[in-house]
Amino acid sequence: MAEKQHLSKERTLVMVKPDGVQRGLIGEIIKRHESLGFKLVAIKTVMPTEKHIEEHYTLDPEWRKVTGEKTIAGYKSKGMTPPSNDPFEITDNILKCLKKYMTSGPAIAMVWQGAHVVKMVRKIVGGTEPLTSDVGTIRGDYVMDSYEMSDNDGRAIRNLIHASGSVEEAAMEIPHWFDEKELIDYRLVGEQILYDVNLDGIME
Ligand code: AMP
Repeated sequence: MAEKQHLSKERTLVMVKPDGVQRGLIGEIIKRHESLGFKLVAIKTVMPTEKHIEEHYTLDPEWRKVTGEKTIAGYKSKGMTPPSNDPFEITDNILKCLKKYMTSGPAIAMVWQGAHVVKMVRKIVGGTEPLTSDVGTIRGDYVMDSYEMSDNDGRAIRNLIHASGSVEEAAMEIPHWFDEKELIDYRLVGEQILYDVNLDGIME
């Protein structure tokens, strides 16, 4: 039986979207990941194409359904009527808007590694809609936008950052943006205090 990979080897794809780059938030976003003890194993500036963006968002066959449903629920929770009750119709439009948004300027693609990195990063990123994302999260602290405003203006929600939603999604998204040789395996000194079982290397 194949040996189970240690949790510290988990990886996630994070992107600073074009609005995050323009707002000067690359450093702040990197800092929040570093502060948690995660390891940056790849980073580059990219100028995404519409094709690459469509492929990225549809890597997960469930994405269209889930994103449409999330949007409908967002409207209903505020007592508002969604633009359509068909999640797929909603997502078709979101995808069109997303291509425009994500190709509007350079973005930063990164791969972060560490225990529970997928869930931990989603926690610090916050919910999709900045209006309702928690205070203390990247989206909650650094941008204001809403489904209502983005729909009125016929555009995608500008929420600064993308992060893989699950380990399986990360496994599809990382090779979509990076070649294997761009992912650097190395030891980070700080990892010892996080993962070393015996902590016997500190005292002289
Ligand atoms: P998600 O996979 O939920 O992060 O959705 C992908 C991206 O699409 C989000 O980060 C937003 O930029 C955008 N988006 C999602 N839902 C909506 C929506 N209802 N209206 C506009 N943009 C959206």
